[in-house]
Amino acid sequence: MQIFLHGLDGSSTVASINEYESLAAFLVNNNLNGYRLVCQGSILSEDNLSATLFENANVYLTSDLDGGKKKKKKKVYTTKKKNKHIHKKIPGLTLSLYSVDGNFHSNLGKGNVTQTRKTCPSCGPGIFMAQHWDRYYCGLCHTTIKMDA
Ligand SMILES: [Zn+2]
Repeated sequence: MQIFLHGLDGSSTVASINEYESLAAFLVNNNLNGYRLVCQGSILSEDNLSATLFENANVYLTSDLDGGKKKKKKKVYTTKKKNKHIHKKIPGLTLSLYSVDGNFHSNLGKGNVTQTRKTCPSCGPGIFMAQHWDRYYCGLCHTTIKMDA
C-alpha cells in the first residue's frame, strides 16, 4: 500500500506500507523515529497501519510533542535572586550584650557588668539597640541613630 508522507518542511514523499506493518516498525524503516504520524486529523497509534490507512492516504509528520500546548516563556532574571533574611537563633546571645570587667568572682559579686549595647532612648531600659557598622537600630520602635565618626 502506498501513502503520501508530508514532512515538516512541507515536502512530500511516497512511502509504502507493508501489510500488518506496525507504526513503530514503519517509523524505524523510514528513519522517522521520534515523529508522529497524523492522518485525517488524528494521530496514528500502534495498530497495524494497513488496517488504519487507505491507499494514497495523506499522512503528515509532526514532531513528538505532547499536545499542542503553548510553551510558556521562561522568565529570565537579570538580577541575582535575593535571599530572604533568616533570623538566626544563637544560644546565649544575650550574654554578648554584657561584658564583665575587672576580676569577676561570681560568688563574691565583684566586677563591673556593663552593657555593650546602647539602650533605646524611646523604649527605655531593657530594650537594646542593634549595632550596625554605622548606626544603632531599635527593632521595637525602629529608631535609628547614626553613629558619630
Ligand atoms: Zn525603641
